[in-house]
Formats: sequence, structure tokens, C-alpha cells
Amino acid sequence: METCNKVLCAECMSLEEYFIESEIETRTIKDSKYKFVKNVARCKCCGKKVMVPGLEDENERKFEFIYRDYNGYIQIDEIKDILEKSNIEKQSLEQMLELEDGTIGNYIAGQLPSRDVSDRLKELV
Ligand SMILES: [Zn+2]
Repeated sequence: METCNKVLCAECMSLEEYFIESEIETRTIKDSKYKFVKNVARCKCCGKKVMVPGLEDENERKFEFIYRDYNGYIQIDEIKDILEKSNIEKQSLEQMLELEDGTIGNYIAGQLPSRDVSDRLKELV
């Protein structure tokens, strides 16, 4: 990740350089606690948190991975692997699993499959 780009710091009220550091976040979903390490950006000048484009998306992807891992759901990369290794088209996979058109594409874009579909996909990994 680029660290030389400047972003707006609300504290300094100016464009400042920033640095990235890790931070542990705990989220509670349906009575389960999930700990994950996320990256936050801080202003080099004052040390306050600043918003860096793309950083939150990256953190959400990390959280998604941990959530799926903990709950035994198939990972997005595993779905991609199924398509690549079996050299199968998304549409064929959808037909095989009796899913609507475009569903596999949605899964790859981040939609969480139902438990049942996830289990059936995992059998193909
Ligand atoms: Zn600042």
C-alpha cells in the first residue's frame, strides 16, 4: 500500500501524510465474538485516525474471511478455485446446484451463500 499519498486530516485540517498500523477489533454477531486484526491509518502529524480510500474494504474482507472460517462457510477464493480447477463455467455450477442465474457471481462478489449451498460447494473444493 502506498504511504506517500496525502489524505485529509480532520484534526490538522490539512492534507497530511499517514502511516498504517494494526488494531484488534472485536465484533459480536449472534452471541459469538470475533476478533480480527485490521489496519488503520493515522496522521503522521497528529496521530489521529484518518480515512484512506480502500482501507475499510480491505478490513471488511479480512473480517469476512474470519467469520466464514469460524463458522465453516466456504471462502470466496475457494469458490474461485472450484471454477478454475474444474474448468467449469459459473452457469454450469449454478445449474448443478440448482441456483438462479448470476448467483455464483454474487457469491464471488461477497454474498454469503446459505449454509446448505455453502456445504455443497465445500464438497467440490
Ligand atoms: Zn493530523
